Amino acid sequence: MLGQQKHIKHMASSSHPSAPCAACKFLRRKCIQGCVFSPYFPPEDPTKFANVHKIFGASNVSKLLNEIAPHQREDAVNSLAYEAEARLKDPVYGCVGAISVLQRQVLRLQKELDATNADLIRFSSNQNIIMNPSSSSSGNALQNPNVLPPHYGNYSWNYNPN
Ligand SMILES: [Zn+2]
Repeated sequence: MLGQQKHIKHMASSSHPSAPCAACKFLRRKCIQGCVFSPYFPPEDPTKFANVHKIFGASNVSKLLNEIAPHQREDAVNSLAYEAEARLKDPVYGCVGAISVLQRQVLRLQKELDATNADLIRFSSNQNIIMNPSSSSSGNALQNPNVLPPHYGNYSWNYNPN
């Protein structure tokens, strides 16, 4: 559905080749055939170019686009647009601010997941003792082979033959 819409949009914009791209409209210049900006800055999205121009400058962007392979240009422009928008929202940290917020979130969720997994191991070992009282008659919970002692994975030998 989304791809179909994109296709229709693309067809619509190519049926009006005289419409200048957002970059040329912004810079008040004629959008010539083969304009380096036109595939990546459609006239329907003027903010994308305005942001990129404000942060990086149109001449730097055109220099960059001419230096990289055509198949990498769309990704490069989308990255520039993302970075420019982030820099305008957060002039000090830009997208680094968003990255560090997400990294802190990942760390917090990883700790939460570790704690939940530890709870699960503890609860399932308690459940085994309640459900199968005969299994606990042969030993205590510490001998349950399904439960590893804490820091089992971190245990290392300090054996030095010399
Ligand atoms: Zn153009």
